Amino acid sequence: MSATEPPPGRATPTPPAPPTSSAPPPAPLSASPPPPASATSADPAAPPPPAAASTSAFALSRAQQEWSARLRALGTERLRPHADSRDPGRVNRPLLRELGEMGLLGHAVPGARPGERVSALDLCLLREALAYSCPQAETALALQGLGAGPVADGGTPGQRARWLPEVAAGRAVAAFALSEPGAGSDAAALALRAEPEPGAGPKGGGAGGEHAARRWRLSGRKTWISNAPEADFYTVFARTGEGPGSRGVSAFLVPADRPGLTGAPLDMLAPHALGTLTFDAVPVTGDDLLGAPGQGFPVAMRTLNLFRPSVGAFAVGMAQAALDASLQHAAERPAFGGVLRDLQSVSHQLAEMATRTEAARLLVYAAASAYDASTGTGGDVARRAAMAKLMATETAQYVVDTAVQIHGAAALQRGHLLEHLYREVRAPRIYEGASEVQRSLIAKELYRTRPPRTGRPHTKESPT
Ligand SMILES: Cc1cc2nc3c(=O)[nH]c(=O)nc-3n(C[C@H](O)[C@H](O)[C@H](O)COP(=O)(O)OP(=O)(O)OC[C@H]3O[C@@H](n4cnc5c(N)ncnc54)[C@H](O)[C@@H]3O)c2cc1C
Repeated sequence: MSATEPPPGRATPTPPAPPTSSAPPPAPLSASPPPPASATSADPAAPPPPAAASTSAFALSRAQQEWSARLRALGTERLRPHADSRDPGRVNRPLLRELGEMGLLGHAVPGARPGERVSALDLCLLREALAYSCPQAETALALQGLGAGPVADGGTPGQRARWLPEVAAGRAVAAFALSEPGAGSDAAALALRAEPEPGAGPKGGGAGGEHAARRWRLSGRKTWISNAPEADFYTVFARTGEGPGSRGVSAFLVPADRPGLTGAPLDMLAPHALGTLTFDAVPVTGDDLLGAPGQGFPVAMRTLNLFRPSVGAFAVGMAQAALDASLQHAAERPAFGGVLRDLQSVSHQLAEMATRTEAARLLVYAAASAYDASTGTGGDVARRAAMAKLMATETAQYVVDTAVQIHGAAALQRGHLLEHLYREVRAPRIYEGASEVQRSLIAKELYRTRPPRTGRPHTKESPT
């Protein structure tokens, strides 16, 4: 198995039976790669060396654990040099091409391989490993998947063939354009107008099927769009007006060179390739539709269902890097005649960080496994995805903040691993559904799937 091949098999809960002689032996320590050369305390920006292969009870297979370890090492050895060589606030095309050549983008770009679907669990393992060793590569990879997701979901064979192999190879840059100045969490309130062109009928032939002859002009603004304004194409959600709210939204694939489409970069707390888009009567036709008119919102939601657990995996990877750095620091930092970890309050902080990180990781793996076992919607997929994203992103915020506390002032110095993580960990609690939105989604799913009432009421009837 090459370093970048997907791991064979899927995570399965280990049966509660006691170990037998036929049970696989625990992974030897040599399954972990040697610490990367740059991961020394001399380089405060470097992640700490990876921990030994886990023997956790929710068993990733040994091959999956080894794949994760190799990906962490590759992130340091092959991807970080590309990441470090460019402005982190711009699209990094050499990094994307390296990710493509390593075969990694294929795990994030749905449908790039004919007949294949992205494995949510493989995507989570990949995002977690890259988040640990090269967060810039992780983000670049995830954004290719997010931008290409609607093309795989609702695109025609022609659209898929034109764009998905290019995105998976890292030669074309994709972006997902849903948010607007007046519509973030309430995405169904989006206002970008798709105005029909006079004389363009609803029916016709061509690649777009019965809607191919239709033409619209897109007018309005999008904001906070990752990879804008440098992407090669945008999956754009616009109001075509078939119904109220989300029922009047259609998805379009808009190549970046369409007349009337402009954009500008935004400067963020954690530098990201991110910007605004302005649509000034940008022409689109039925051939640019992703799915049927009025069906754009489900296309967006299905894409987010796949990616939500993996946002959690990104957060878990960052939390693990912060935890490992803290373990190392607490073992080395002299304090009060010993080292920091001799203080019980510090040990308890480390224990709490590790426990919460592991709990978040398990929720992420469970949500991804549920997605893989489903058609991508229905059942408990949405609830699990929301729980995983909520728990993991909130946990990572806690873990990184506690790691900063354990490191003291050194963590706040520009260029330190934790200074970077402290800025990086904030946004995932807001994007792809803020934590409050995830809680509302979880509650809605609980009410929808509430079992019918059975048995006696919990309170006794009043004797009066
Ligand atoms: C780094 C980054 C990358 C991004 N990339 C993309 C991208 O590629 N494509 C894209 O389309 N968008 C992207 N976004 C935008 C992102 O999806 C929005 O920021 C997000 O949906 C929240 O919208 P908002 O920022 O307008 O906040 P608002 O919707 O104004 O919400 C502000 C706050 O109000 C509270 N709130 C909102 N709704 C509720 C509710 N229902 N119940 C309780 N409280 C609530 C929450 O605390 C929330 O954080 C990105 C954002 C960031 C930070």
